[in-house]
Amino acid sequence: MFLGVVQRVTDRDRFDAPSDVVDRIDLHLHSDRSDGLLGPAAVIAAAQEAGLRAVSLTDHDTLNGVEEAAEAAAEIGLPFVPGIEFSCYDDNGSTHLLGYFVDPSHAELTEYLANARELRVERAQKMVEKLNRLSVEVTLDDVRAQASEQGLIARPHVARALVAGGWVKDYNEAFYRFIADGQPAYVPTWRLSPAEGVRRIQDAGGLAILAHGGKSHSESAIRALVDAGLDGLETLHPEHGPYEVRRLRRLAEQHGLLETGGSDWHGPHDGRRGQLASQPVPYEWYVRLRDAAEERASQ
Ligand SMILES: [Zn+2]
Ligand SMILES: [Zn+2]
Repeated sequence: MFLGVVQRVTDRDRFDAPSDVVDRIDLHLHSDRSDGLLGPAAVIAAAQEAGLRAVSLTDHDTLNGVEEAAEAAAEIGLPFVPGIEFSCYDDNGSTHLLGYFVDPSHAELTEYLANARELRVERAQKMVEKLNRLSVEVTLDDVRAQASEQGLIARPHVARALVAGGWVKDYNEAFYRFIADGQPAYVPTWRLSPAEGVRRIQDAGGLAILAHGGKSHSESAIRALVDAGLDGLETLHPEHGPYEVRRLRRLAEQHGLLETGGSDWHGPHDGRRGQLASQPVPYEWYVRLRDAAEERASQ
């Protein structure tokens, strides 16, 4: 019985979220180059303000903000990880993959992303057409007005255009009434399988990490990704409660995977996601990630 108690304490130490993290990092941030609210340099300034020790910019399907963020981080001596968040899709639904330390000038990757960007515009156009058929008079220009000039167009911009036009009362209503999967103005996204996503990230010199998989991904789904070469799991994320954190940390340990974490911050006054620096991600995890990327590059 005594041994049982000791065992429980040991498990908790090993699998719960780290606490009292002094040197906190945040490896999951979005700028206005995808669907965040601030420009890349402003994201870095906010990270410094929050006292973070290392950060990554992980915009959806674009590397357009990485150079600006890297320069801003270098100016203040903040360790920076070039990153991206890939949208993947297969019969099991959607999988987001974080790609850390990808080479932003990798030809095959940049070509793929340029193509994906075109497809996103086509998708937004189709959503607008469906909305118009529902007598919601929103235009593609209204949607573009919600995105930054260099940014891509994604569903959040359609949602914000619907709010701005007074068609829905808030962002969430835009999704559950119109553009969420299964709703009348939903348009499916293009299909990049998770295995192909892992390959594209690694071909560009990056490490492939499953983003916020705590609730969405079963153990067998994660094992399939590990078989495809997955490098790690994002164990700390605002969508993960203590149960998800513990489950993912155990799986990371079992499969010898890296762990990462971040707030998935999209900017101030964006209540959908976690607040900047809200996750207790230790600096040590940045060191392990960087070392793994260096080791991969030297192979
Ligand atoms: Zn995501
Ligand atoms: Zn994200």
